[in-house]
Amino acid sequence: MNIVFASSDNWIAYIVLGISIVIAVLTVVTIIIVHHLNYFLSKTFEINISRIKGIKNGDDALDYFIMKFDLTEVENHLLKIENRKQEKLGDLDPSSKKYKRILKRFDKKGNKAFILKFYRLKTRYQQIDYERSSYKIKEYSYILHVKDSIMKNRINFVKNNGNLVTFSKYNDVDQRKALTKEMREYVKKRDNYTCQICGKYMPDEVGLHIDHIIPVSRGGKSVISNLQVLCSKCNGKKGNKKI
Ligand SMILES: [Zn+2]
Repeated sequence: MNIVFASSDNWIAYIVLGISIVIAVLTVVTIIIVHHLNYFLSKTFEINISRIKGIKNGDDALDYFIMKFDLTEVENHLLKIENRKQEKLGDLDPSSKKYKRILKRFDKKGNKAFILKFYRLKTRYQQIDYERSSYKIKEYSYILHVKDSIMKNRINFVKNNGNLVTFSKYNDVDQRKALTKEMREYVKKRDNYTCQICGKYMPDEVGLHIDHIIPVSRGGKSVISNLQVLCSKCNGKKGNKKI
């Protein structure tokens, strides 16, 4: 090799080169460390919500995810984070600076421990040689970053409410709870204790039902405008149909 950088009078070039190399190496090392932890702590889940209506906020989306999916992968990831944390903290004194620093780093990165990407499949069309054909594209409607501790709490919450199995059930429970005694009384008086289909008058309230005009299972809400009085016969006939 015959590369000569400088004669004795431009030694500055050597120093600049040296410093540049050190900075470059440090940068690369830092990026690797930071990204390794990011990569390690983050897990992305893609969730198709094409057929789901009514996901309005973060809690809904998270509950839907927990109820709808096999949680093995989620729990493994939680365990992995926890194990890694313990491994890093080791036998460090909890009051030491290092302990706090590591914990803080985990806490910061842990904000993106779970990345939930909710998407819908949208149909697009293309035309080739006068032939029109459809194809699907993913359209992300919601991206949620969830901290590991929040995920853990939410799983426990959902699991302790055993009846909340699917998202529609969850919605059902919510809407049925939302139907208060006051609302029932209001609707009975408004409809004059009379079946809104056959006109049966039920002043003694025997067989009187408060019915969701648009059924809860179809996204109907427990609001006064969606409630009516029915007799048990008509209520039975109605079933799930919208009348
Ligand atoms: Zn009736």
